[in-house]
Amino acid sequence: MSDRTQHAANPDVDVDVIVVGAGPAGSCAAIALARAGFSVVLLERGPFPGSKNMYGGVVYPRILDELIPRWYDEAPVQRWITRRSTMVMTDTQAMSIDFRNDAWAAPPYNGATAYRPDFDHWLAGHAESAGAQLLCSTTATGLLRDRSGAVTGVTTDRPDGDLTARLVIACDGVNSFLAKDAGLYREVAAKHYTLGVKETIGLPKEVIDERFGVRGREGVDIEIIGCTSGVNGGGFVYTNLDTVAVGVVLKLPALAAQQLRPEQIIAKMKTHSAIAPLVEGGELKEYSAHLIPEAGLSMMPKLATAGLLVAGDAAALCLAAGIWLEGVNFAMASGMYAGQAAAEALRRGDTSEQGLAGYERRLTETFVLRDHRKLRRAPALVLSDRVQHRYPQMVAAVVERMFRVDNPDPKPGLRRILAQERKRAGVRRRDLARDGWAGLRTFG
Ligand SMILES: Cc1cc2nc3c(=O)[nH]c(=O)nc-3n(C[C@H](O)[C@H](O)[C@H](O)COP(=O)(O)OP(=O)(O)OC[C@H]3O[C@@H](n4cnc5c(N)ncnc54)[C@H](O)[C@@H]3O)c2cc1C
Repeated sequence: MSDRTQHAANPDVDVDVIVVGAGPAGSCAAIALARAGFSVVLLERGPFPGSKNMYGGVVYPRILDELIPRWYDEAPVQRWITRRSTMVMTDTQAMSIDFRNDAWAAPPYNGATAYRPDFDHWLAGHAESAGAQLLCSTTATGLLRDRSGAVTGVTTDRPDGDLTARLVIACDGVNSFLAKDAGLYREVAAKHYTLGVKETIGLPKEVIDERFGVRGREGVDIEIIGCTSGVNGGGFVYTNLDTVAVGVVLKLPALAAQQLRPEQIIAKMKTHSAIAPLVEGGELKEYSAHLIPEAGLSMMPKLATAGLLVAGDAAALCLAAGIWLEGVNFAMASGMYAGQAAAEALRRGDTSEQGLAGYERRLTETFVLRDHRKLRRAPALVLSDRVQHRYPQMVAAVVERMFRVDNPDPKPGLRRILAQERKRAGVRRRDLARDGWAGLRTFG
């Protein structure tokens, strides 16, 4: 394959670094390395970057300030998120905390909706402009190793397949074949994953603006709990310019136990009185599904071994913690730090596990691992049976009684309502206190 690739400083290898996967992690790793002057090949199994990728739809690209200053002037954004809601739902009720911020409609912005084929393609374009060579429709099928076990390249599905390098960065997404092949995962268990399923529904822009109460490029992000038909998980509704993304994230063992199909769960969610008026009359444009590494720190693999670094979803660096569903920012950051640490190691000529320690140090010093450590209890708490099935009922019942006018009866006191509804929902005082304390320690 060497005739098609750039030349490495070391003539014994085809290229300095192979980055596998042109998602956000891979492209940011490739940008950092190519700008540092190393030859980089970016392998992508899809016909173009973004063609195989799906997500809910909101990206928080602040970390790009470092790699692409004023990225917001050129990134292919649908809408800028100016409204964020968290909704608690029962079959017939819904309560939202709804926040608007006009400042998020102007530079430097906060979050944005974007289509992945556009966004990933744009980001990979920056890797190419920096000098990386993008090879699409090419799947890495395994790792090459030397006698000591150090990774020295990858095998691919091309006829002249093998490609050697001084270092490989695996950014091949959730369920990373390469990280598993390198033995970096202790355990791969279904309980650590959720299945994300999404419908993209077409509606005229003016209709979306009116239904969601936004104008121009303003956009909305709604995260929902209690919308998953008894399967532990959560839901979301995001606005693009002329489509609305509606989706659910479902815990795999719970989904298998309920014997429900994800499309049935979305269909039911779309009939809820809080969602139906937002999407009715829309045309289904796309249905997509993808796994999410949901368990955070508790499922994270070793991040490096001799000749290999792992970044993004491949390293389970995705934060799914109730009001947050963020993976793209963690992928871009971990990819960039992997690229920087790799450049440092290559300059020193030491790509042993120890020589690559700068990667984990960077992650530890920044939001990438600090957020995961701080929120390590969040996935288990948010997906627990009480938070999923009992608290939404209890909260909705309390709010309903506070808002109900039951004259000639006088207004009830909140403490009494809370005690009665807690009992009715079958929540023990001890468990409520324990979960409250866990919530404070996690999010406080
Ligand atoms: C339903 C759902 C909703 C989500 N919502 C959000 C959200 O709103 N906001 C957010 O920030 N995150 C969200 N996420 C998470 C986010 O999508 C991921 O965290 C993010 O895409 C990770 O980026 P990555 O570059 O690590 O991996 P990916 O984006 O998965 O990219 C991996 C790339 O590697 C390629 N590849 C894989 N194997 C090989 C191989 N062997 N050879 C060559 N190429 C290969 C793939 O084709 C792909 O292009 C969501 C995820 C899901 C499933």
